[in-house]
Amino acid sequence: MAISTSSSTSASSSSTTSPPSISTTTSPSRYENQKRRDWNTFGQYLRNHRPPLSLSRCSGANVLEFLRYLDQFGKTKVHTQICPFYGHPNPPAPCPCPLRQAWGSLDALIGRLRAAFEENGGKPEANPFGARAVRLYLREVRDVQAKARGISYEKKKRKRPPQPPPPPPPSNATTSDL
Ligand SMILES: [Zn+2]
Repeated sequence: MAISTSSSTSASSSSTTSPPSISTTTSPSRYENQKRRDWNTFGQYLRNHRPPLSLSRCSGANVLEFLRYLDQFGKTKVHTQICPFYGHPNPPAPCPCPLRQAWGSLDALIGRLRAAFEENGGKPEANPFGARAVRLYLREVRDVQAKARGISYEKKKRKRPPQPPPPPPPSNATTSDL
């Protein structure tokens, strides 16, 4: 197993992928506009949902569905573990791995929707965007994307990948994360 030894010098230089993190230091009105647009997008998603979903019945699970739905519009290549470019921030050739929403975009999006929910009369304790499942999902996306692209956002942590890797994992009791 090649654990990439290059850790620094990973940012910038790719034109087609989004930066790993999106600064929230844009002007307030831009943020407000973006938030309104995100909120409308989510409302539309709820209306088109089968069966129809009302905001008041919306749960963290529905938010996760929404995030996965958004992946089809993603522009960030996320290599699978069998891809030869797994762990390469700038692969030299195309590969059939899927495009996804970058973790930074999702994280920022959830932050905006979470605020919008409460601004639109939602109760903080019922905020589906603040659900634990959503936080865990975002953490997992970050982890998977960091590994797939050879970017380290923080110290390595053991997380369950979507598909189990070939070698058996060390017997560490799977944590109570769910
Ligand atoms: Zn790939």
